[in-house]
Amino acid sequence: MPVLEINSISKAYGRIKALDNVSFKIPKGSVFGLLGPNGSGKTTLLSIVLDVLQSDSGRYNWFGESPSHLHRKKIGSLLETPNLYHYLTAVQNLRITQSISGRGNEEDIHAVLEKVNLHERKNSRFSTYSLGMKQRLAIAAALLGNPDVLVLDEPTNGLDPVGIAEIRDLIKELAIDGHTVIMASHLLDEVEKVCDHVAILKHGHLIACGTVEDVLSAEDCLLLSAADQLLLTEKMRAYPGLLRMNTTAEGLECYFAKGASSAEMVNRFCFEQGLVLSQIWVKKKRLEEKFFELTNE
Ligand code: ADP
Ligand code: MG
Repeated sequence: MPVLEINSISKAYGRIKALDNVSFKIPKGSVFGLLGPNGSGKTTLLSIVLDVLQSDSGRYNWFGESPSHLHRKKIGSLLETPNLYHYLTAVQNLRITQSISGRGNEEDIHAVLEKVNLHERKNSRFSTYSLGMKQRLAIAAALLGNPDVLVLDEPTNGLDPVGIAEIRDLIKELAIDGHTVIMASHLLDEVEKVCDHVAILKHGHLIACGTVEDVLSAEDCLLLSAADQLLLTEKMRAYPGLLRMNTTAEGLECYFAKGASSAEMVNRFCFEQGLVLSQIWVKKKRLEEKFFELTNE
């Protein structure tokens, strides 16, 4: 059973369509990346499933059931910079968060500080923390009550490389501890490094979804030429395992799932179809190129 199932959700702000009929499922135990450029609808979608914002249409289910207060207790979230007090220590801040949210107990405060690796600095004032430590304390606040699911919106935004690495490691550890983590990010590199599943949003449309391996792994691409390019295109259309083709000035680009085909197999196939290739060139697609392709016009 998926942790979260999103079904045909749409949302407009006046004339701006922020989400258009978005559906996907988030598997239990995954580190799920919601990937898309700025303005693609990530925060809007997270706000809707956290019941901060109302969708115009569509539904979502948490843990296989309609959303309820019971489910809310199993979800920790960090949507925007939380209210943490600069002049208070980590422990004092978490006590306040706890009394407002009603999640967890005193013991829990120490447990979450251990989890985010701030226990040694638990009695230091928030104002003395680095940006990375502040963000880890914010995540600690979201972890009070030991929620099954953690929803994080751009958790590494504004951090320096050290802070970014710490948050990434923390997210991986949380997943090992059994939390399902749902995080929005505009960074392909981040999703690739941290997540095992991904959904890609572009202008409010879902354009790809699945395991990171399936969605982002480089496809194999062969560039083919023959005397009769049209006949080549026609024949290749029937090639088993072909994902798509693209006619370019350099030749016919043929895309295959990684490892599903080879230059030799394609060469033999064409020859058997009565076509002699004048060129086969193995092209490697880079991930950046793939992401660019997915998110640009
Ligand atoms: P992301 O988090 O991917 O950057 P958002 O969900 O914040 O995207 O925004 C999606 C689109 O909706 C953008 O075009 C944004 O300008 C617009 N938008 C977001 N919030 C509001 C709002 N409160 N009022 C009007 N437009 C909004
Ligand atoms: Mg956002």
